[in-house]
Amino acid sequence: MKLFNSLTRKKEEFTPMDPQNVKMYSCGPTVYNYFHIGNARPFIVFDVLRRYMEYRGYNVKFVQNFTDIDDKVINRANEEGVTYKDIADKYIEEYFVDAKGLGIHPATIHPKATENIDAIIEIVSTLIEKGYAYESEGDVYFRALKFKDYGKLSKQPLEDLVAGARIGVGEKKEDACDFALWKAAKPGEPSWTSPWGEGRPGWHIECSAMANRYLGKTIDIHSGGVDLTFPHHENEIAQSEAANGCQFANFWLHNAFLNIDNKKMSKSLGNFFTVRDAAEAYGYEAIRFFMLSAHYRSPINYSQESLMQAKAALERLHNAVNNMEFLSKNGSGEALSDAQKEILSGFDKHREKFIAAMDDDINTADAIAAIFELVRDVNSTVADNGSSAFAAECLSRVRELCDVLGLVEKKDEASLDAEIEALIEARQAARKERNFAEADRIRDELAAQGIILEDTPQGVKWHRA
Ligand code: AMP
Ligand code: ZN
Repeated sequence: MKLFNSLTRKKEEFTPMDPQNVKMYSCGPTVYNYFHIGNARPFIVFDVLRRYMEYRGYNVKFVQNFTDIDDKVINRANEEGVTYKDIADKYIEEYFVDAKGLGIHPATIHPKATENIDAIIEIVSTLIEKGYAYESEGDVYFRALKFKDYGKLSKQPLEDLVAGARIGVGEKKEDACDFALWKAAKPGEPSWTSPWGEGRPGWHIECSAMANRYLGKTIDIHSGGVDLTFPHHENEIAQSEAANGCQFANFWLHNAFLNIDNKKMSKSLGNFFTVRDAAEAYGYEAIRFFMLSAHYRSPINYSQESLMQAKAALERLHNAVNNMEFLSKNGSGEALSDAQKEILSGFDKHREKFIAAMDDDINTADAIAAIFELVRDVNSTVADNGSSAFAAECLSRVRELCDVLGLVEKKDEASLDAEIEALIEARQAARKERNFAEADRIRDELAAQGIILEDTPQGVKWHRA
């Protein structure tokens, strides 16, 4: 498998340090709000990378942190008159709601910054001992330019870094390029006891500390959005490599940005959407499909049109799967014939194409195309080969590939029931507004899933056909 390594700016053959086991770290959300659709991109694409590595037989230990203390969390808590922990806990819970909806598997470990203060203090102390960091009035700063490789990831000449650096208000640094590892507590702010007095960690240090604690000194893959390359990832490298004296991450993967109607998403432009909003409009799975319809290193444009297209394509996939499911339950009982076996082995080329695409720096766009080619071939043969066995074989081939991308996944009964009830409610609302076309469309959509509605004086009853 080849992955584009931002460190070398090349596609390189990926081999983990330990042949069976992959150690992967991804920067997670700062939990002060519902996450937005831009954040959803790295969460989805790196979930797919992890699933694909598992599909290829690796064990993946995947760590994704929660930044549960920083200025944004504190400001939100102050606005609402609650503690930082109330805010962090609430949005961690909401993260898991949206992540589940989007089909993002929970990481192996989701560590929180505030639960790793001891590891953070330890690495900061090591950096001070080694002369890479210094205390200044209760703050601790990293001497960026002392780290010889500073700038190696973002490929910025040191002169440019020096010219662009400024000392902010209240900072007590030796040099404008230095960055904070530890911040002295301001009155009223949450704080932890440290050798440098009461304070809280800077943002960059938490990832170095948690990657080291949960994965070790050197990891196989570190990932995140391209905006994190500098300064966040550059600083993570400097901290980890200065403290541990060895390479931090062998591969650095960065996803390109998601824009909205070809503009940067920002609150001030009024084009800021949370995943929660988008899921209400299009459904979670359409968002996932849309994200995977482009290569992760190409910018992607979020628009109503592109989401509607994703929804329509996904519907074709669902219809095909529903059809195969129906036939695999209701088809005739004969065993597979030799001719059918031959047809099925003819489908292998689609799996090969899918794997070739995924091996090429997780090209999900081409991988999706391979799934649609398989579905087209299945659709044109499954009806003429009316046995359950043949339909079941087709279904398992389609599911095998869809599962790697986290599409058309089998749902548990409870979440299926919740979706059906939400659709029934939407139908009732449409009827109330006398939008009968929409109400009929929803009834048909439910019927296609084998759900029969019965309007009774007590309300709508439903059952499976
Ligand atoms: P944050 O919570 O802001 O630290 O971001 C969490 C993740 O989302 C990081 O990996 C960011 O790089 C990524 N991210 C933020 N905005 C976007 C965007 N518009 N498009 C793609 N990725 C983004
Ligand atoms: Zn990080």
